[in-house]
Formats: sequence, C-alpha cells, structure tokens
Amino acid sequence: MLRAELLGRQAQRESAARTYARTIPVAPVSATGAEVTGADGRAYLDCLSGAGTLALGHNHPAVVEGLQAALASGVPLHTLDMITPQKDAFSEELLERLPGSLRHHAKLHFCSPAGTDAVEAALKLARHATGRSGIVSFTGAYHGMTLGASSVSGPERMRGPAAEAQPVTRLPYPYGYRCPFGVGGEHGAGLSARLLESYLTDPSSGMAPPAAVILEVVQGEGGVIPAPDSWLREIRRITAAHGVLLIVDEVQTGIGRTGHYWACERAGVTPDILVTSKAVGGGLPLALIAYRPDLDTWLPGDHTGTFRGNTLAMVAGRITLRTVAEEQLAERAEKLGARLRLGLRELARAFPQIGEVRGRGLMTGAELVDPGAAPDALGARPAAPEFARAVQAACLDRGLILELGGRGGAVLRLLPPLVLTDAQAGAVLDRLGDALAAVCAAPHGRPERAA
Ligand code: PMP
Repeated sequence: MLRAELLGRQAQRESAARTYARTIPVAPVSATGAEVTGADGRAYLDCLSGAGTLALGHNHPAVVEGLQAALASGVPLHTLDMITPQKDAFSEELLERLPGSLRHHAKLHFCSPAGTDAVEAALKLARHATGRSGIVSFTGAYHGMTLGASSVSGPERMRGPAAEAQPVTRLPYPYGYRCPFGVGGEHGAGLSARLLESYLTDPSSGMAPPAAVILEVVQGEGGVIPAPDSWLREIRRITAAHGVLLIVDEVQTGIGRTGHYWACERAGVTPDILVTSKAVGGGLPLALIAYRPDLDTWLPGDHTGTFRGNTLAMVAGRITLRTVAEEQLAERAEKLGARLRLGLRELARAFPQIGEVRGRGLMTGAELVDPGAAPDALGARPAAPEFARAVQAACLDRGLILELGGRGGAVLRLLPPLVLTDAQAGAVLDRLGDALAAVCAAPHGRPERAA
C-alpha cells in the first residue's frame, strides 16, 4: 500500500520526464550490496546500481563507517573548492589510480557534481587550451543532459572561446553488430578511425580542425558497445598526430567497472582529459576531470560552481577508489561479467530474440531483436524494443532490476555492483531466463504482471 501511495504522489508531483520511476516502479526503503528492498517488502537484485554509480553496492560497511566517522567528527559538509583533509586524501588516492602518464601528474578540476558537468568542463577546457571550437563525437554517444547553461549566460569568460559556435562532427562509433559501413568487426572499426583521419587531412573535408575528440570506450546508454582496442589506439594515434585533444568519458566505465580500473587502460591508451563521476563519489555526487598539466590554461574563476566541495562524497569516493584497488574488484568484474555473458549466450540458444550478447567486465548488454524479421547483410535483425520492455517488466516481477539502452531501447543492460556475489550472478541469469520464457509464452508478448 505504501508503495502505491508513494508512487501515486510521485506521479502527481514530479515531471513527465521521470524515467526510472516509470519503468522500475519500486519505492526503495533499504538496501545492502546488490539487494534493494522496496516499500512493498519485496527484495530485488539491483543490476542498475544507481546507473553504475554503486561500485561497492549499497551501504558497503567501509563506506558507511567512513561516512559516520566523518559526520561525527564535525567536518564541514560543504566547502566550495576550499581544501579539506578529506579532499586532500581523495585527490591523493585518485592521482595514484589514474591511467598512464596522468598518474601522479594530472591536474584535477572538481566540477559541479554530475557527469554532465564534468563533460562540460572537459569540452570547455579543450576549447580554451586549443583556441579551437569544434568537437568530434560518435554516433550513439551519451555524455549528459546539460543544455549548454554557460552558452546562455552573460559574461564572455563563462563560455570560453567560440562557445556559441561549437560545431560537432559525429563519426560512426564502432558498433560491429550494426556496422554503419556494412562490414563489422575490427575492419569496420578501422574505417571509423580512417574517416577521422581523412577529415583531418583533407583540406576540403568541411571540418575545421577540432579542439577535441570525445568518446566512451564502452558505450553504456548507447547499448553496451565495447570499442575494439585497435580502434581506440588508432584514435589516440590520430588525435596526437594532429594536435587534437582526446577526451575519454569514463563516467560509467571508470573505477573497475569494465575489468580494468579505467576502460582506456585495456588498450594502453591515456587520454589528454579523463572525465569521471558516478562511482568516483562512492554513491554520493562528485565529478571531476583529470588532465595533462600543460592544458591548465584556465585563469582563476574561468570555470566554477557552488557544489564542488562535498566532503562526504570525497570520503565515500576515497574509500571506494581504494577498496576497488585493494580487493581487486576490477578482476572480479571481469570474471563475473564473463560468467553473465556466458549464461546469456546459453539463453540465446533457446531464445532467438537475443540477437547479440556483448560487454566488458560488469557492463553487459543483450540486444533483443525480432527473430521473424529478415536479417541485414551482417545478419542482424531489427531491434525489438517492445519485447525488451516486456522482458524488463517481467524481470522486475521476478525481483530483478535492470535497465534498457541502445538504439530504440532494445538492449537489456546489466550494471550490477562489483560486489555482486556468485550466487547472485546465478540468480540474475535464472530470473532473466524465466522472464524471457514468460514473455515468449504470453499471448501478446506481455505476461500478466504480478500485483
Ligand atoms: N557520460 C556517460 C558515459 C554517462 O553514462 C553518463 C550518465 N549515464 C553521463 C556522462 C552523464 O552523467 P550524469 O547523469 O551524472 O550527468
């Protein structure tokens, strides 16, 4: 009853843009590890974990203890960008964990607390440091929701050079399953990189030299699409050769999620600007960029914000950064992710609606397709978003929270905490298999929903 009341009042009060609240009508009241209990008393396995934020799961004892100790000690909870011992310790920990040449040497810029704020900062810094305005991004990318707040603000310095004209060139992301070049695999990915090089070298390409290329190593919202290492290395080579900055958005992939501490490390690539948020705050809001020190061309006040000094987020973030490293949770993510994908591939044999299973570490996706429709030249059938929504609902009925993503929302995405147990991984697969069977057995593709 309480659940229905809470959801009813929420629907009345909150915006029509609500998302998770609609597809996952759970009113969480308590949570531990990978398990969430709703106001209806039901327990759910959480394979969304705050959209990939809760690397250590809900209420990890070390995080809770650290937060309680900080609160009891009377530390100021909010300090703008003034230094505190907690921020100092967080920075030290992060610097120690950064990839490649950024380790120990990067400059850190603490942003307003969302991933999108850090992306804004990265783009602005790239434009500032290069004096150029263009940005190259990729099809299917997700970098955040802010609508260029600074572009509608008054003072010129808030916008940085040429902000009003920030031309964006989108290139095809190496999405092998639906390769825009019709060839797939490493070959298709190679063509995507080659296109970038061609744009940069052809004086008549129509693309002015950009300030930066921004990318996700594994597209999350775009449908859990890992880019081949060879592609990432090529993009790194090309950007370096042409003086274009490489921004790697590790908002979702960072802190062990993909089986490496940072997803870019697998390919041995170090970005010029690394964007991080979500797990870096240990479940509390925190976002920052880490970048090559010579790019630090900003003057005091060029990029500010009120909420850049969340002491509790620094405490939770430091504990999370350290725990992921010390408990080798990236390796665990790799192992458990492989197990989930293996299980999903087994399910794909029974359910031809599973068109492709892919992912890296504990970022796993299953793209659902219409098995009755004709395949394209690469063998991919049309996406089945309605079916995916029905499976998501059937999973919820069976106590499994997962999210959809991808083009048209036809990809089941599993983003559990890195502390998911082996038994829980098995339960995830069981529930998913049951849900698929139930949806397939239902007369109109939608099983009766449990109350
Ligand atoms: N970048 C990536 C790769 C993301 O996945 C997200 C959020 N899903 C963002 C940026 C934006 O983060 P936020 O929602 O905290 O603004």
